[in-house]
Amino acid sequence: KLNKDFGQHLLKNPLVVNGIIAKADVRATDHVLEIGPGTGNMTVKLLEAAKKVTVVEVDPRMAAELRKRLQGHPHEHKLHIILGDAMKVELPAFDVCVANLPYQISSGITFKLLLHRPQFRVALLMYQREFALRLVAKPGDELYCRLSVNTQLLSKTTHAMKVGRNNFRPPPKVESSVVRIEPICPPPPINFTEWDGLLRIAFARKNKLISSNFKVDSVLAMLEANYRAFASVSGKSVDGLDKEKIKDLVTDIIDKAGLSDARAGKMDLDDYMKLLVAFNEAGIHFA
Ligand code: SAM
Repeated sequence: KLNKDFGQHLLKNPLVVNGIIAKADVRATDHVLEIGPGTGNMTVKLLEAAKKVTVVEVDPRMAAELRKRLQGHPHEHKLHIILGDAMKVELPAFDVCVANLPYQISSGITFKLLLHRPQFRVALLMYQREFALRLVAKPGDELYCRLSVNTQLLSKTTHAMKVGRNNFRPPPKVESSVVRIEPICPPPPINFTEWDGLLRIAFARKNKLISSNFKVDSVLAMLEANYRAFASVSGKSVDGLDKEKIKDLVTDIIDKAGLSDARAGKMDLDDYMKLLVAFNEAGIHFA
């Protein structure tokens, strides 16, 4: 009866459901967004704790079952159902988000939430264990990656609880973890597209010197093209500009930022911010 494409593994352990709600610290004045409510094991508890609960569910059969379960329930009036794909629908303003979603959309939904405005207070999201560990990894950790840096630029992430596969029905193939995500408010004044562009280059080989990652031919060609585009907009001269000049400029920027012996896997947020500012000030862009 359950639909595999929608990753339907229902949480059957009430201790896990209650644990998630407790860590979300739901207040009686909160508007909670639940993505992927399924048959509503978490939803019924959220309705008791919150002022309003909006759920986004892609499977009409699940939404119908949820509506039926809450028929005549004292908190029925607090429930709002949006039928649709959470990646596509417009999300309302909300205070708290909880979600136990299929793992294919982990990354997409995390950034949709982090870039959503107005910002929310906290989210408790279920992930595949390794993905969760990436979200909370720190510089030097084996799992520290572009996802860690991007997420931690925009939020404080903490591992909230491990959830073994037998807490679900049917059990998924992998172990899970819940991560607590608290957006940084206000968000840092950084162009996220540029930021991510820089990280893609830095993390292409995370254990190599970043100075060598930025001096790969294809990267230099891209930086030169972007430099020319920005220079023409700002009326700057590009006389005599070539790949060698860009290479010297890149070396110079990384040296001046004090990162000539830095490696992506060990750099922290401040290092990346410093590097992006230094590149941008020299007219080099990543978007
Ligand atoms: N939250 C429930 C629970 O813990 O028992 C159900 C969890 S089940 C892992 C995932 C739920 O998300 C299913 O109800 C599925 O239909 C729904 N879903 C899957 N993809 C979705 C999407 N893109 N947008 C909204 N809901 C989705």
